Amino acid sequence: MTAFLILIIIVLVLVTGIYYASWQNWLILRKPLPQQWMTFLDRKVLFFNKLTEPEQQQLKDLVQLFIAKKKFHGCGGLVINDEIRITIAAQACLLLLNRSTGVYPRLRHILVYPDAFVSNQLQHNDDGTMDDARGGLLGESWHFGKVILSWDDVKRGVTNIHDGHNVVLHEFSHQLDSESGSANGAPLLHSNSYTAWAQILSEEFEELNADFQQHNESVMDYYGATNPAEFFAVATETFFEKPRQLQKKHPELFGVLRKYYAVDPTGWQ
Ligand SMILES: [Zn+2]
Repeated sequence: MTAFLILIIIVLVLVTGIYYASWQNWLILRKPLPQQWMTFLDRKVLFFNKLTEPEQQQLKDLVQLFIAKKKFHGCGGLVINDEIRITIAAQACLLLLNRSTGVYPRLRHILVYPDAFVSNQLQHNDDGTMDDARGGLLGESWHFGKVILSWDDVKRGVTNIHDGHNVVLHEFSHQLDSESGSANGAPLLHSNSYTAWAQILSEEFEELNADFQQHNESVMDYYGATNPAEFFAVATETFFEKPRQLQKKHPELFGVLRKYYAVDPTGWQ
């Protein structure tokens, strides 16, 4: 009997939690998007105008939820404004279109510096040592609740969407990767997708490493050869910014990313 009561209480808590979250989202989304936000989306976020109308509506809802739930912090003298919030939120939420994943549920804080910043994070190396990752960084994604970005590089990414470099797509794909419990290049997938994902991404990772060693040309940035987590982040940037080249040169990788991200950016060119 006691076990039955505990089960009932657990179910009630879970159901209440789900309804409370839905009610919170409803409260946020019932307010119309401010006109100024629409102007930023239209004029500053080049990806936005490539989307279909239903995708644009989805993105607007995701941006509204993102901005309501995440806290932006200006660092190094930068004052956060709507342009900064919209530009970051819209690109981060591009990775969530057509997927029922929630809006980065573990992420709480976005720290924005005016330009490249110095990290205090210790870098864990494969041999067990740690380095103090000094040097100018464009972005950084922490496992638990934090992304750090350079505003200069965010602007550079959003104004050139065909060069394969986008710090927001890069860092937020690390956030998706972390949702599986560790950042290892395998985000949360449908249970029957892990085998194909592991096989294709590890083969492509090895190929990028070989291209790097042999100085061959590659559609992906060689930074992706650093480790599987960076490979997934760089492959994400390439998927959204150079989709046709990726599809032509790496059709299997393009295929698993199209399935995961549930969009086909080849139609956005
Ligand atoms: Zn990275």
